[in-house]
Amino acid sequence: MSDANAKKIAKEVHRRRTFAIISHPDAGKTTMTEKLLLYGGAIHLAGSVKSRRAAKHAVSDWMELEQQRGISVTSSVLQFPYKNYAINLLDTPGHADFSEDTYRTLAAADAAVMLIDVAKGVEPQTEKLFKVCRMRKLPIFTFVNKMDREGRNPLELLEEIENLLGIKSYPINWPIGMGKAFKGVWDRAGQKALLFDSGGHHGEARVDIKESTLDDPLLLNTLGPVRLQELKDEVELLDIAGDEFSLEQVRNGELTPVFFGSAMTNFGIEPFLEAFVEMAPGPDEVRVKQVDPTRPEFSGFVFKIQANMNPAHRDRLAFIRIMSGRFERDMQAKLARENRQIKLAYPQTMMAQDRETVEEAYAGDIIGLYDPGTFRIGDTIYTGEAVEFTDIPRFSPEHFAIVEIKDALKRKQLTKGLDQLAEEGAIQVFKQPYLGEKDTIVGAVGQLQFEVLKFRLEKEYNAVVQLRPLLFQHARWVDGEGFEQQKFERQDYTKVLLDRDDNPIILFRNDWALNYCKGQYPDLRFLPNPPGT
Ligand code: GDP
Repeated sequence: MSDANAKKIAKEVHRRRTFAIISHPDAGKTTMTEKLLLYGGAIHLAGSVKSRRAAKHAVSDWMELEQQRGISVTSSVLQFPYKNYAINLLDTPGHADFSEDTYRTLAAADAAVMLIDVAKGVEPQTEKLFKVCRMRKLPIFTFVNKMDREGRNPLELLEEIENLLGIKSYPINWPIGMGKAFKGVWDRAGQKALLFDSGGHHGEARVDIKESTLDDPLLLNTLGPVRLQELKDEVELLDIAGDEFSLEQVRNGELTPVFFGSAMTNFGIEPFLEAFVEMAPGPDEVRVKQVDPTRPEFSGFVFKIQANMNPAHRDRLAFIRIMSGRFERDMQAKLARENRQIKLAYPQTMMAQDRETVEEAYAGDIIGLYDPGTFRIGDTIYTGEAVEFTDIPRFSPEHFAIVEIKDALKRKQLTKGLDQLAEEGAIQVFKQPYLGEKDTIVGAVGQLQFEVLKFRLEKEYNAVVQLRPLLFQHARWVDGEGFEQQKFERQDYTKVLLDRDDNPIILFRNDWALNYCKGQYPDLRFLPNPPGT
């Protein structure tokens, strides 16, 4: 590798920003995504992501959305440029039910933007997602949205963030007014007001920003004397009362920079984006690195597999987060799990609405590879010196059901469907040790996954099934000496199954059963993940 080449890789990696937006449904994630694309110049008139919005929220709607594969694949990751940065925006599923997909997606992100509705504050889904980011020590940026509506007092909101989520906050800017009177934001570092002017647009185009200072007649004219005095008081209060800003704490996920705005009217999007790209870490600046992202050799891991576009062809994409070096189309790389060379063919990227073929990509980027059944979630691929990424979270399911097929002649389709959907990570499949494949048991982290399973088995594999719930709440893999299957078989509060790799896994009726068994068998370990992972 020549010096020039190494330099080019380092430079490319440094300008990557890879993040996900986390929010409770309805806080404005779709709108925000659209506006980020607008400011990135990736779409010219905001509104083109709307098709997604129409098809959301209700389970059935979400399935319709999934049916339109084009949209759902596009929504998995969007790439757009902003200034000198190359941005990868990962989509976390928007539906209320929580699934493994979300966790895995966050494993591919270097930062998260937490979107909060000013009227609602921290909502349950925000909190759950926040905790996952926390676990991963991701830097978290907060955008308080819908400032064009009357909402809660901003100071009170910051307090809620600190108390409920346990993270320090630092307002980078401060709203000037709220609701109809939302005129702009006060830029604390620049000591200036940014006054927004929609120019009569309704959020389809960028807003004009006029800068003004506290003693500028423009500000007085815009706000009037009373409101101006209030702003002065607020600015002063913030400067004396709040936490200190520390980029290091932001990067460590200990302090969240807070921004105010309205995704709908575009007010505050640009100040946010400008600060975000500067403060969020590039792949070379993240806190925990499993491999040097600027090493020339390519490596990456699969965090998501998705059946896509054309159900008739059943083609699938494996989404890879590149962790180091440069990816080139059609290159050879090693699949760590099988220790064999594979060709990385048909790479795709999502530029806003369109899929494009990737010629090259760098650490931080997300690419989709055509997957004829080669990949599994969590797979590492690499060139050069061996690496393995083991950081992809796997979760023990909390819902279980027996799959019963209506038409026995469709069993083959069912088996194929279950296999593929398990590989995709859409569900987990278990067998009963003595009964063979006739009674397949499926497990999921969220109940909605079952409904999706049923729907997809029918639509994509032509297998109509009934899912009979099994009333167990926990599943644990076992490790340790002296595990005797029969002992767990004899009880009605436990049940033994085998996972895809024939490891025993025990289902527990409830918390009591799990705790009881822990007490009964001190030499056994009950693990939420398969042993050795
Ligand atoms: P998601 O569920 O988080 O993706 O939310 P959407 O982007 O679909 O927004 C939910 C609703 O809130 C839609 O009706 C949006 O038009 C509306 N919305 C989003 N952002 C804003 C905003 O800044 N102000 C106002 N007033 N409404 C907004």
